[in-house]
Amino acid sequence: MDLRNGFDIKRYIRTIPDYPKPGILFRDITTLLANMHAYRAAVDELAWPFLHGDFEYVAGIEARGFILGGAVAHALGRGFVPIRKKGKLPARTIGQDYALEYGVDTIEIHADAIKEGDRILLIDDLIATGGTAGAAIDLIRKSGGEVLAAAFVIDLPDLGGAEKLRAKGVKVHTLVGFEGH
Ligand code: AMP
Repeated sequence: MDLRNGFDIKRYIRTIPDYPKPGILFRDITTLLANMHAYRAAVDELAWPFLHGDFEYVAGIEARGFILGGAVAHALGRGFVPIRKKGKLPARTIGQDYALEYGVDTIEIHADAIKEGDRILLIDDLIATGGTAGAAIDLIRKSGGEVLAAAFVIDLPDLGGAEKLRAKGVKVHTLVGFEGH
């Protein structure tokens, strides 16, 4: 898909078959991040629908959501809130468990990062099943925040994550889609 400004970022995303396990097509954005035009285009495209958005913070999900979310927060002149894997944040946290294919994982946010009624733009690199972003939305809501929207560079539409987030009442913005998983 050509993006609004005519720059095709999809060709900068590298696909690694069978990583991290057989059958997975890993969509690697390091090649996009390394290209100055592609990185800027991706950040601009993530940010532009929210240029006039009414929100306080960009929240990014560890780790690739930090690289994109930090840049989006800077571009939009907002603060950045990290959502991290369990045990990484130094002050008091609240956590949210979510199901993985095998077992459970936990993400955390500082308990005082978001105040009642704060509005948040959530950023990650990719949405697949929506398990991770869904947990991040639950965490933001537990903190008293509202999720204005969630934005991702890559959508894997066949895995249904974007639909799952929309069913939770969250607007979803994605830049490129890949069929399959
Ligand atoms: P999910 O929770 O299933 O929506 O998975 C999304 C998270 O897992 C994101 O943080 C992605 O970075 C990572 N992820 C899942 N599937 C892939 C994939 N095929 N290629 C690269 N990253 C992936």
